[in-house]
Amino acid sequence: MTIFSFFSGASRALGSSSSSSKLLVILSISSGGLVAYSESQTDAGAQNAEIKQKEPQKKRVVVLGTGWAGTSFLKDLDISSYDVKVVSPRNYFAFTPLLPSVTCGTVEARSIVEPIRNIIKKRNGEIQYWEAECVKIDAANKKIQCRSVIDNNFVGNEEFLVDYDYLVIAMGAQVNTFNTPGVKEYCHFLKEVEDAQKIRRSVIDCFERAVLPDLSDEERRRNLHFVIVGGGPTGVEFAAELHDFILEDLVKLYPMVKDLVKITVIQSGDHILNMFDERISSFAERKFGRDGIEVQTGCRVTSVSDKAMTVKVKSKGEICSVPYGMVVWSTGIVTRPVLRDFMDQIGQNKRHVLTTNEWLRVEGCDGVYALGDCASVAQRRVMEDISTIFKTADKDNSGTLTVKEFQDVIDDILVRYPQVELYLKNKHLNGVTDLLKDLQGHERKEVDIEGFKSALRHVDSQMKSLPATAQVAAQQGAYLSSCFNRRQQCQETPEGPLRFRDSGRHHFRPFRYKHLGQFAPLGGEQTAAELPGDWVSIGHSTQWLWYSVYASKQVSWRTRFLVVSDWTRRFIFGRDSSRI
Ligand code: FAD
Ligand code: MG
Repeated sequence: MTIFSFFSGASRALGSSSSSSKLLVILSISSGGLVAYSESQTDAGAQNAEIKQKEPQKKRVVVLGTGWAGTSFLKDLDISSYDVKVVSPRNYFAFTPLLPSVTCGTVEARSIVEPIRNIIKKRNGEIQYWEAECVKIDAANKKIQCRSVIDNNFVGNEEFLVDYDYLVIAMGAQVNTFNTPGVKEYCHFLKEVEDAQKIRRSVIDCFERAVLPDLSDEERRRNLHFVIVGGGPTGVEFAAELHDFILEDLVKLYPMVKDLVKITVIQSGDHILNMFDERISSFAERKFGRDGIEVQTGCRVTSVSDKAMTVKVKSKGEICSVPYGMVVWSTGIVTRPVLRDFMDQIGQNKRHVLTTNEWLRVEGCDGVYALGDCASVAQRRVMEDISTIFKTADKDNSGTLTVKEFQDVIDDILVRYPQVELYLKNKHLNGVTDLLKDLQGHERKEVDIEGFKSALRHVDSQMKSLPATAQVAAQQGAYLSSCFNRRQQCQETPEGPLRFRDSGRHHFRPFRYKHLGQFAPLGGEQTAAELPGDWVSIGHSTQWLWYSVYASKQVSWRTRFLVVSDWTRRFIFGRDSSRI
């Protein structure tokens, strides 16, 4: 036992009376102070009680999930002030942006994961982790019900309850199948590390099956038809990875069937990558065209069976059957059942996804926060609060707002309603005076409530919901931990904007997302990137930017080293095609 663990053990022992007396006996004997024992015991007892009274019990924080949001919250949380417990069925963090690379063996699965216990260990203090899933949230009694996910020879209680003072829900979402028949049974998903590993085996299976003797050409062709349903960033990146894998490695190993291979991307919208800048989406379509990857837009998969799927061409209403060897279903995400149940409990049953306010708090539930893919931030509309904003700003109760009065609250408005700032920026307005101009563009010295409403009537059109990305989840985790760390401080000196519907100030500034850009790898060592300030960059140099950003974003030096060495191995030896 090291000195450190002895002292930490000792301090823990002091918390419980039976173990503290045992420890005191040992300490007293070793110091020869046997006589003083009975006295010191009562003294210590009194002291303990005093300490307990002085130091309120640490608040219990329970974190659900070890993905981007949960891990980023844990990484910065000051655990000396909280008793932290983590519940997640996955005892590791996975660097999801590299999952498509795992499907083809460009990067190995273990290179992109970091055990959660490694992350916890780096924190000085105690965080408890349980490999279990939360099956029920009881917000009224501040408890969650969990079930262990370890199924082999499990001894003891599989289900247990955990009490919390603060609950941080960061359990991500699940794949949306849109209840399409056959999808769960026959399609692959690309959401978890296990999914990527299964896809890797399945690609090789398709090639091995296609070269078996006594197969018709049609059978071989079917086996080598890889279909990706969903033309979003994940589907497109997987299609590009698969194309590279086949072109650079597999055609050399399976030359007899190389002309029978086909990759198809089926997209229900009009373009692939339609959330990206139009230049990126059209570049991707042209590149896929050159590479021989077929892109079918405006098509919807209506059912999937073991060897074929039915596809409806939306414009013509035509239905056709598409034989396939492997399908990857990548059409977006949906709320997990446990959260649906929670939403029913708290009156959010009409919503698609668990909703929080701008401080990531689930309104109506004391101490419950939600972040990452499992939640969405509902930005308050200016027009909902327009009268109270006007009243607060109109300090002299004159019924009109002067430029000066408006100027005094504009900073609070900009923080509370970020859509106002976006509106000013997009309309090239220079602040309050420009905003208050009348319809003819004349400056106004003051406005009444109607004038104020009309000045701000379009600002809410700038509101956008945040994308379900790792970037958002990680920023939300870091934001929430900084609020937790400064809870006391901000209660005493609030840093947030004015409460327009109430009095005083908000304790914290609301969460504000900062978009740092987005990549879309397109294969052949080419990547497209959308960078802040409407910058678009496409090509080989962007691929190098991609390599350096993803290497630097790794959570540990261990995974950074593994990922970079996997890339190097792939450059030198190619990808491994063993079916393990
Ligand atoms: P997750 O990371 O999904 O974590 C959820 C956690 O909750 C997991 O640990 C899970 O085990 C746990 N959990 C699940 N159920 C329960 C339960 N009942 N109780 C307790 N815990 C539970 N984003 C980008 O920004 N850039 C990219 O390049 C990018 N590429 C991607 C590529 C792929 C293939 C995928 C699938 C996603 C990609 N994303 C990317 C999106 C990004 O991964 C997600 O937005 C991000 O993971 C969301 O983080 P999260 O913490 O909310 O959820
Ligand atoms: Mg006034």
